[in-house]
Amino acid sequence: MLNIQKLLINYNFSNRNESIKFIVIHDVGETGSTAQNNRDYFSGGNRGASADFFVDSNNIIQIIDYINNYSWAIGDGHGAFGKTNGNSVSIEMCLESNGQPSEKTIQNTLELTNYLMKQLDIGISNVVRHYDCSHKCCPESFSDNNWAKWNQFKARLSTPTPTIKFRKVLKVIKSNALCINPITGALVKKFKVGDLLTAIDSDSVWWVLTIGEISKANCVEVITPIKSTTITSTPTLGTVTATTLNVRESPNVNSKIIGQLTKGEKVKIDCKRGNWYSTFYGDHGGYVSADYIK
Ligand SMILES: [Zn+2]
Repeated sequence: MLNIQKLLINYNFSNRNESIKFIVIHDVGETGSTAQNNRDYFSGGNRGASADFFVDSNNIIQIIDYINNYSWAIGDGHGAFGKTNGNSVSIEMCLESNGQPSEKTIQNTLELTNYLMKQLDIGISNVVRHYDCSHKCCPESFSDNNWAKWNQFKARLSTPTPTIKFRKVLKVIKSNALCINPITGALVKKFKVGDLLTAIDSDSVWWVLTIGEISKANCVEVITPIKSTTITSTPTLGTVTATTLNVRESPNVNSKIIGQLTKGEKVKIDCKRGNWYSTFYGDHGGYVSADYIK
């Protein structure tokens, strides 16, 4: 992947308080502008809009510190479909003079999306169009033939699976517990005291999460109580020897008949009371005379 050029702007974002659940793909709409042109526009004053990344054939430019802040890219949906500026990160593709992103721009956008999916632990189903957030026709350059190019884009995303050695539930015990990318050392996510995480691997110092690593000093392992096992015995089976055999509510001949069994039928016997077997019959069970069961 190209280096991410971090050219942060001073306007057009808010403080992020929620975790990022969605990666939203856009195109800039306007033809012939570069990533730098778009960065300069949003850096130039209060625009009432923005995005986190701009991508062209040769550049990936990040303009917002998306871990701590969020851009204003899908506010037109007013939170429709569960997607908000606060829980998403937005990537804008620049367009050539023909109104399409170049193949290089698409490739760069795919690589950036793969990177963010891994960094933020976001699954492929949460990589969405601006259209999925507000029904704005964006990225319009992908919309022809019932979004055929969008479907191709999604099919080209990789779906990496981390190696899971175990699953241990951790509870965060220190404020501002940081999860970092083990390769770059970059901050991936901040956790609060009481947050529950799942570790999939560890070494002497670090717990490995699917999104990065967190120091063992920041967490305690939650020991899940072991469920007591219910002992289920195999029931004894008896065979009906009478032509018809009444099943009664209680173990006596005067009690209500709740059903009938026929010769050769097998019944599950629970226990014997006097000369009666308690059997599993219907919802509540019933009693049959032991004289007609062998
Ligand atoms: Zn858009």
